[in-house]
Amino acid sequence: MEKKQFQAESKRLLDMMIHSIYTQKEVFLRELISNASDAIDKIYYKALTDDSLSFNQDDYYIKVVADKEKRLLKIIDTGIGMTKEDLENNLGVIAKSGSLAFKAENEIKDGHDIIGQFGVGFYAAFMVADVVTVISKALGSDEAYKWESEGAEGYTIEPTTKNEVGTEIILKIKENTEEESYEDYLEEYRLKSIIKKYSDFIRYPIKMEVTKNRKKEGSEDEYEDYVEEETINSMVPIWRKNKSELTEEDYESFYNEKRYGFDKPLKHIHISVDGTIRYNSILYIPENIPFDYYSKEYEKGLELYSSGVLIMNKCADLLPDYFGFVKGMVDSEDLSLNISREMLQHDRQLKLIAKNITKKIKSELQSLLKNEREKYETFYNSFGRQLKFGVYSDFGMNKETLQDLLMFYSSKEKKLVTLDEYISRMPEDQKYIYYATGESIERIEKLPQTELVADKGYEILYFTEDIDEFAIKMLVNYKEKEFKSVSSGDLGIEENEKDTDVKDEENKELFAEMKTILADKVKDVRVSKRLKSHPVCLTADGEVTIEMEKILNAMPDNQNVKADKVLEINPNHEVFESLKKAFENDKEKLSLYTNLLYNQALLIEGLPIHDPVEFTNDICKVMV
Ligand code: ADP
Repeated sequence: MEKKQFQAESKRLLDMMIHSIYTQKEVFLRELISNASDAIDKIYYKALTDDSLSFNQDDYYIKVVADKEKRLLKIIDTGIGMTKEDLENNLGVIAKSGSLAFKAENEIKDGHDIIGQFGVGFYAAFMVADVVTVISKALGSDEAYKWESEGAEGYTIEPTTKNEVGTEIILKIKENTEEESYEDYLEEYRLKSIIKKYSDFIRYPIKMEVTKNRKKEGSEDEYEDYVEEETINSMVPIWRKNKSELTEEDYESFYNEKRYGFDKPLKHIHISVDGTIRYNSILYIPENIPFDYYSKEYEKGLELYSSGVLIMNKCADLLPDYFGFVKGMVDSEDLSLNISREMLQHDRQLKLIAKNITKKIKSELQSLLKNEREKYETFYNSFGRQLKFGVYSDFGMNKETLQDLLMFYSSKEKKLVTLDEYISRMPEDQKYIYYATGESIERIEKLPQTELVADKGYEILYFTEDIDEFAIKMLVNYKEKEFKSVSSGDLGIEENEKDTDVKDEENKELFAEMKTILADKVKDVRVSKRLKSHPVCLTADGEVTIEMEKILNAMPDNQNVKADKVLEINPNHEVFESLKKAFENDKEKLSLYTNLLYNQALLIEGLPIHDPVEFTNDICKVMV
């Protein structure tokens, strides 16, 4: 029979699975059971919403059957099944190929990472099996098909017979190796424990034939083995259970089983509301950021159940964008099963639930910040950027909600601090919340612009992310204290103000001349109030700061926004004397010095120099 080729990405993933040295091979069963459960969800949902189908609860189950002699493990479900096309499209192709391509470029060697990032679903079967056979009959179809593959070489599909609708996955378990005893996956005790561990809350019974022992009939001391079908999982969905019955591990395995993420969640939130609106919800704050989180591919949303039946995989309306990283589910009795997506958006109950959930997430994050600082910082390192985007977007509509959750690196504490902590430490004479922007903490530490503020003993917040300054501009102030860039014109530090005014006046002509030399490169040249040891720096007048100019110009729709740059000169630096001398005696030298100083200031700011060759030539001129 003709072998069909796997799509390139699938082949690569398969190869990884087959040669996987991933230690937790047992998760293959979780993946296959999850698929089976999803397939039953689909048929169950159909039956509930379509009167022509009538099934009863007992019709839905998953069965795990081990045949040690033949080395076969079967996972059988009574789910919706797959047509020939489904088999082709779902098993021959990876839907998430885009993300996989991304990962592959980032070189994953052992498949560990890939399981970590996506869960590989069906292909995980190849971690433990040489041959995988799928026999399936789709709902509403008279024909059944058999899909079979021995791995990366390809697969075959042919018609077969099967009585009931549903799917049967048959794994030919690999021969044992020195490292791995694959035949364990055919042992009853091992299978039971894997099911318990990962799939206990699957809503349908997972059945297995279990060997038991009993007294022989009519005998006093003779025993015999017999086989009985048993449901291994407890089935009650975790969200219906009492919080006090559940352990941290229970929440973690639900998180993994649901494939919300493959990291350990940082925190779970279990909500049971029984008032005017009734719902149960389990939410998770993940520890690691999904690699595609800040891309268009990432879809936020929670699973939505109506009285225990899954009606939507990712209900986006349940989460505001700024909490888009939250994973989990909501189950409500007050939502109709038949509700369409369009209707959902306007559903009053759903809106109430969403509002409720948003509040709860915020208060949980606040308590994490208050009580488990380290964990909060881990969270913040992953998703802080999202919170800052949240402050900035929608015209600052959500800034009140989010401002207390923000953190920035502090010049004094040398770690992340909240705005509230900053305010509470402010000396009485300090008017503003000061910040400095730059590429990295190390770079900001060296910025000449920070000198005066730091010298006053004031704390400075370091902004190292593009979004920081934009978010702060949206906030304007925090607890009535205005934010102020260390590069801004008026720093609100009074003492040497008079001094600088005098110096500005005295050297009016020198600065005018320098301004002429630099022409439209700068808006002004003036005496600096903020420099102590450095000779020059660049600052900006007006709303657009130099950092913002950099960011805006790096955007695809670059509108060539320019900051009004000001070249500030330190009147107490020796270089200033040289400038004055040159102004009086040698105009050519003044031009040389002015250009050099301007270019130095650009370099310190991390801005490009217009003409590097000219700059180096200028340096040589000074040297000879
Ligand atoms: P995922 O489940 O994450 O989509 P998988 O590789 O595990 O990825 O499965 C691919 C697709 O194959 C599923 O989305 C589903 O449509 C189909 N599928 C897998 N197993 C079954 C099953 N037991 N019954 C019906 N469909 C299945």
